[in-house]
Amino acid sequence: MNQSDAERVHTVMTKMGLIYTDLEENASIIGIIACSVRQKAIDKVYSKISKWNKWKNKKSLITFVSGCILPDDHKKFLKLFDLVFDMKELAALPMMLNHYGVVSPLSLLSVPENFEDNIVLKSGKNIFTGLQPLKKAKATPQTWEVEPIYDSTFEAFIPIQNGCNKFCSFCAVPYTRGREVSRPSTEIIEELKSLVEKGYKSITLLGQNVNSYGLDKRGKELSFAQLLDMVGNIADSAKDDIWIYFTAPHPRDMTRDIIETIAKHRSLAKQIHLPIQSGDDTILERMNRKHNVERYAETVEWIRELLPTCTLFTDIIVGFAGETDEQFENTRNAVRRFGFNMAYTAMYSPRPGAAAFEWGDDISHQIKKRRYAILTEDIAEVALNNTKKLLNTTVKILVREKDRKEGYLSGHTEGRIVARFPSKDISLIGKFVEIEIKSVTPFSVEGEIV
Ligand code: SF4
Repeated sequence: MNQSDAERVHTVMTKMGLIYTDLEENASIIGIIACSVRQKAIDKVYSKISKWNKWKNKKSLITFVSGCILPDDHKKFLKLFDLVFDMKELAALPMMLNHYGVVSPLSLLSVPENFEDNIVLKSGKNIFTGLQPLKKAKATPQTWEVEPIYDSTFEAFIPIQNGCNKFCSFCAVPYTRGREVSRPSTEIIEELKSLVEKGYKSITLLGQNVNSYGLDKRGKELSFAQLLDMVGNIADSAKDDIWIYFTAPHPRDMTRDIIETIAKHRSLAKQIHLPIQSGDDTILERMNRKHNVERYAETVEWIRELLPTCTLFTDIIVGFAGETDEQFENTRNAVRRFGFNMAYTAMYSPRPGAAAFEWGDDISHQIKKRRYAILTEDIAEVALNNTKKLLNTTVKILVREKDRKEGYLSGHTEGRIVARFPSKDISLIGKFVEIEIKSVTPFSVEGEIV
């Protein structure tokens, strides 16, 4: 989601006439789209801004931050960054930059003339429509109304939904991103068609709760399964193969018709990232996840029945407030039971503003680290059982980049398993190739091009 937002920031800044650079040392305006899901991610923001503020002694530099920011960090960022803005105020970024360093609403009352026609939404509306004075800027369009400058020529993200109504007790997203808002399906389809025409090979539909798409419109919008069906019809009929992904779904909203729709379309990638967070019902209840292990298991059964080749990824938190050894053992059992191909595990860190913040952080760092290490080993073991099945088979991969291993290129399979093969032919980047798998690790495979 942050990458997708950054692509929209890129558009706005480019239309202001600014030139993009990959090298932070070369930038005169530099910013971060922050993520508050874990403390570690926010710590990185503090470390970056401390470095950039030192650079200010030597050169002229404007810094900004946006994205998911909690109120406490927001206050601190105001002192550290020149600009702190909500992504919903993206349209006002040119004006803020013009008034360098001034974030007061009053500064936005005077609109520089030469910006008037620079930023235009996909709908053709001037991006500044409704922005004067700032009171109206509160009603600025969703970020997805700004046409992105895609970072890649073969992989793209399409935001379809923003915000969350679930209020998991460990998470601050509903407070930072707000309630669920679904993007009109007509716009999604328009963006999809344009990407298909341009020959994109991998497209990911994005949302905090991607599969609760449409629910906020109370019957006046497609359901997620219906949207997927339309997307599948378009992508299936494309000249070249396309893999369509979506992330991240919530187990509670994972209905059987979604799995059936994925099974129906060859372009809908057989890979699902379904966050379980814990394998213990009491912890799930305290997390306010609104699903239990058996409800999760039901979805996994549908996946195994209807999508036999599908890979399954998940997210897990260890050391949530009050987690006992027994409850942790239940999470280990769930990892073995569901046979994940990948699990993004995090040690619990209380997020200010989230409900569980009030419950404290009673599991010591040492215990969290131990549980994290044990679970990482469990996941590697079950994942290796999966990748071993690929040995000596031929799989199609989308080549994405030069691998860290000298003389190799890497990409991923349809199931998003990292795959590498020896080649120096960078013209293959962005293309599908077939490789025969010769060796495997838990989370990657290696082979030779066929
Ligand atoms: Fe956060 Fe839960 Fe919403 Fe996901 S579903 S964004 S974890 S509150």
